[in-house]
Amino acid sequence: YYSDKTIVYFDGNFLKAKEAGMDLYGQSLHYGYSVFEGIKSYRTDHGTKIFKAEEHYERLKRSAELMHIPFDYTVSQLTDITYELLELNGFSDAYIRPLVTCSPNMSLSKGQKSYLSLLAWDWSNGYLADKMKIMTSTFQRPNPKAFKIEAKVGGHYVNSILACQDAKDKGYDEALLLDENGNVAESSGANVFYEKDGTLFTPAKGNILPGITRQTVFEICSQLHIPVKETFFKPEEMRGADAAFFCGTAAEIVALDSLDDVPFTKNWKDTESEKVQQAYLKLVRVLSL
Ligand code: PMP
Repeated sequence: YYSDKTIVYFDGNFLKAKEAGMDLYGQSLHYGYSVFEGIKSYRTDHGTKIFKAEEHYERLKRSAELMHIPFDYTVSQLTDITYELLELNGFSDAYIRPLVTCSPNMSLSKGQKSYLSLLAWDWSNGYLADKMKIMTSTFQRPNPKAFKIEAKVGGHYVNSILACQDAKDKGYDEALLLDENGNVAESSGANVFYEKDGTLFTPAKGNILPGITRQTVFEICSQLHIPVKETFFKPEEMRGADAAFFCGTAAEIVALDSLDDVPFTKNWKDTESEKVQQAYLKLVRVLSL
């Protein structure tokens, strides 16, 4: 993720990654009480552009607010710092990880002081996944009555690690997690869509992280006149559908091969999903369809 030359941002300063450290006495390290984002920048005809910077930084601020973490950077400050970080590292196609942590405090009360870290790494080789074989996980997504699941919180990802590793141990590429009612929710780090008879279906909000890529898929579908429905459904309804994909900032739009060893039936090239994938890959580079 970093070399001797990598520069990171920490609490107002740019410094070498290998010189950056963190307080051992803090709620974020001990309890997963942190909020973060996953953002991508792309090389475009108009230079390096951070895709949907405003949406990501609005979500970071909202996550901090929901978790009672004091955090007063503005969206435009955050965006400016990110462009500076990319420039200092010489990155164009990059993955950017803003992280807000709280210390020094070991109590179970709300954070008193927060620190912003910004890390970035080169992503010019893209995401390596081809078509993913996924399984329905026995791990549920965190229950919205126990967690603020629309916030992107460090601790929530312990659930993601358990589900993803379990799927890998069983020979699959990823896990599909259900909500407390047995409806399909999302993967360990991406939202999900399936396609049937030319219509796309995706889980309604309530038990998922409402992804920025998911929202972009809606925008693409409306421009391409592809019908899309937000609804609750069981894995049985998705198994054996025409096609399916995961979507997220890192995953972009990644085709799924099968769910619980039942293949999606249509040739990916003949699906509406593939049109959405192509439109997304164009959009991130030219910023319009
Ligand atoms: N769900 C989860 C659990 C995630 O971690 C992510 C990645 N942030 C997503 C969905 C997709 O969100 P986005 O499109 O905003 O990256």
